[in-house]
Amino acid sequence: IDPGGAEPVWLRKYPADVNWRKTISPAPLTSLMDHAVKTFADRPAVDFLGKILTFGEIGRMVGQAAKGLQQIGVKPGDRVGLFLPNTPYSIVYYYAALTIGATIVNFNPLYALREIEHQVNDSGTRVMVTLDLAVVYDKVHELLGKTCLERIIVCPMAGVLPFPKNLLFPLVKGKEIGKVEKSARIVQHKALMQNDGRYAPVQIDPETAVAVLQYTGGTTGLPKGAMLTHANLHANARQLEAWFPDARPGQERTMVVLPLFHVFAMTVCMNYSVLAGACMIMLPRFELDQVLETLAKKKPSLFPGVPTMYTAIAHHPKIRAFDLSSINYCLSGGAPLPLEVKQTFEKLTGCTLVEGYGLTETSPVTHCNPFNGISKEGSIGLPMPGTTIEIVDLEDGETVLPQGSRGEICIRGPQVMAGYWNKPEETAKTMAGGRLHTGDVGYLDEDGYAFIVDRIKDLIIAGGYNVYPRMVEEAVYLHDLVEECTVIGIPDEYRGQTVKAFVKLKAGAHLTAAELTAFLKERLSPIEMPKQIEFRDALPKTLIGKLSKKELVQEEKEKYEAR
Ligand code: AMP
Repeated sequence: IDPGGAEPVWLRKYPADVNWRKTISPAPLTSLMDHAVKTFADRPAVDFLGKILTFGEIGRMVGQAAKGLQQIGVKPGDRVGLFLPNTPYSIVYYYAALTIGATIVNFNPLYALREIEHQVNDSGTRVMVTLDLAVVYDKVHELLGKTCLERIIVCPMAGVLPFPKNLLFPLVKGKEIGKVEKSARIVQHKALMQNDGRYAPVQIDPETAVAVLQYTGGTTGLPKGAMLTHANLHANARQLEAWFPDARPGQERTMVVLPLFHVFAMTVCMNYSVLAGACMIMLPRFELDQVLETLAKKKPSLFPGVPTMYTAIAHHPKIRAFDLSSINYCLSGGAPLPLEVKQTFEKLTGCTLVEGYGLTETSPVTHCNPFNGISKEGSIGLPMPGTTIEIVDLEDGETVLPQGSRGEICIRGPQVMAGYWNKPEETAKTMAGGRLHTGDVGYLDEDGYAFIVDRIKDLIIAGGYNVYPRMVEEAVYLHDLVEECTVIGIPDEYRGQTVKAFVKLKAGAHLTAAELTAFLKERLSPIEMPKQIEFRDALPKTLIGKLSKKELVQEEKEKYEAR
């Protein structure tokens, strides 16, 4: 499906006057903010727990933070870390650092210190922006002296931004304000911002300047920094713009409950909102009741989320009491969206929920089902404008297979990263043949819609047969009493691996393994049939809310070794 060739199927569903090539010509990501500040100065840019900042106010703060960063010596190409949960500071420092040509490194504040240390040293982060809350500040402070980190910028939870004085940080339990050291190594946000906002302009080459180093396990598991250029991130925001053809500039509202340090939220929630002049309705974390109340009260029109969020909403006992009619677009990404969840969610809320797909290395969105075209259930949809998908032979890694065949999904497009930071070998492997190898297995149907079958590394090989856990999960989800399910391969003496399903039932539901097995018998082949089923009250999730297999695989491995 090459948008440069014959008219692709998805193009027919969009206005003919949109010239994708022109729309996505390379530009610095900061041009989006510059444009929003000029065009939507008086419009709300962010509503954080009821406190509103306009694009004009955000623009002024970006200018002051940019100058402040220059005054403490940050130069083009330097890495500036963001160690922040969702607050307006995330937006201000992100765009400020980019404005002066620095590279953002996003940190997940809930990571273990060991992982954070690795990320600081690997990226060469010398300046880190964080909050004055003990729970984050103390972690960052520990890195001084231990790593290459030289300076910390500390933002107050109360004070400079118009937060309620008593606002407590709801992300984690530790709520107290940290004891902030007084030294040259610590810069107070308030002091950094005391300037006229006239920073020294910097020339940015969008195609070579790395805007963000986004850390990911990729397909091999070792954390590495995907180099996302200004042009990559700018293109992905523009591509999304094409996907929301009815969006009204300066009028839309985006629900921002995904963490902005994750690539999905960074692009879909933040950068796209800046492009569209949309107000970001921001929450620090996913608290089901708070999210539903906010959706009903603040009336966002766009609600990007991960499948577990829509699952939780769809299964809320009082879902019908919330008016969600303002939402035009619900976009699920980051993990497979079970069919049952999509159908229940749409039936109970009246909102359209479409599935998209992407990965860190592609800024991240490469595919999405159209909102005003045919949305195919179980499919990740059609490629973004200017994006090419190829299905490549799993054995040789280079033969492009015909439509309908299963193989590795490979991507070309303006959103594909420049490579991994300081990892030429990994880059060469992932970018072999000039295409990004995603590590996902899938196929294309006759209309060019893509379907993900599984991840290469999640594939179970039982007695020489390939079992795709995703297919088993889909079958388990069909049972009415199931809320969540994760399927993994566990070690087996005879078959090498065998299938095990971990299941969380809906509140108050009762089901035995024998009953579930009987239900699955009609839906799965004997090879796919889980040999073990374990019910749990909760299943492990990643910090963004994706169901996670890693912990379960490890547990099972240890259990097997200890036999
Ligand atoms: P990350 O780089 O952490 O965002 O993870 C990207 C991976 O998430 C992809 O390579 C896929 O394996 C998975 N993923 C994202 N979206 C979907 C989807 N809609 N269906 C299935 N897997 C998905």
